[in-house]
Amino acid sequence: MSQEEYHENILDAVMERVRPHIGKGHVADYIPELGKVDPHRFGFALATVDGDIHSAGDVDIPFSLQSITKLFTLALVVSGSDDIWQRVHREPSGSPFNSLYQLEFERGIPRNPLINPGALVVTDQLLSDTGDAVGTLCDLLSRESGNPHLQVDEVTAHSEYLTGDRNRSLAYLMSDFGNIRNPVSEVLDHYFRQCAITVTTVELARIGLLLARHGVRADGSRMFSREAARRIMAVMLTCGTYDAAGEFAFRIGLPCKSGVGGGILAVVPARYSLAVWGPGLDPRGNSVAGALALEAFTDITHLSVF
Ligand code: GLU
Repeated sequence: MSQEEYHENILDAVMERVRPHIGKGHVADYIPELGKVDPHRFGFALATVDGDIHSAGDVDIPFSLQSITKLFTLALVVSGSDDIWQRVHREPSGSPFNSLYQLEFERGIPRNPLINPGALVVTDQLLSDTGDAVGTLCDLLSRESGNPHLQVDEVTAHSEYLTGDRNRSLAYLMSDFGNIRNPVSEVLDHYFRQCAITVTTVELARIGLLLARHGVRADGSRMFSREAARRIMAVMLTCGTYDAAGEFAFRIGLPCKSGVGGGILAVVPARYSLAVWGPGLDPRGNSVAGALALEAFTDITHLSVF
């Protein structure tokens, strides 16, 4: 069987398993703009480390990247220095992604960089490093996705701004502890806008190759070290799917990062980047159909990291 046929067979088998579940779950409506998305959409894209793409379903419809951006602000920050690890821990939170509760006890040091407080610290660092966190992120994602026109959906960004009081609370609390260094309103503005960047499922699979290739860009140059890639993927596995990371490791066994826009990025290190999109979420904020698709993928291929 050719590589082409092998990958097409995997996709067919995954789609067959997922089809009855497409549309299940609830779209995130705490950000009103996200609540307007059709829950019956579903896309699955697989990118090989050589850059070949195989895909099925609604893979060309842009969706809101949301928390998946947290991976790439982190990648940008660690490509400069390791200092960020003094400002954020690496432990699963076991609490909702926007919880304030641990921050008070842990003196403004977030549990990990993939929940909202941790991501706010990372965005703050990127802002200090570059002067334009969201612009730097957009440039990176545009280059790696193969779409030079990736952008922030300003309507969604405004919707986040209007409903962002919990993120404001997190940022002000951390500022009080000295762990936000730029003006809070500026950090929040970059954070709201970074979450509202839109991509298609195929574009996301291409972007994920940065991790699958352990820090090597699409043009073959190195963006961050192999060790940094290993660390980011370790944090994805343990903290990337809200307070369901244990369940994801159990069912899927791959480093994954989800967003409330319904996307999930998963990595088979040195082999594949997998992007799924299904806007219907489970109560913890993970795409129902997306998680099932990834579970089907590792069942069929035995490519879990375990
Ligand atoms: N913009 C969302 C928020 O800050 C991101 C949440 C997510 O995707 O986890 O609430």
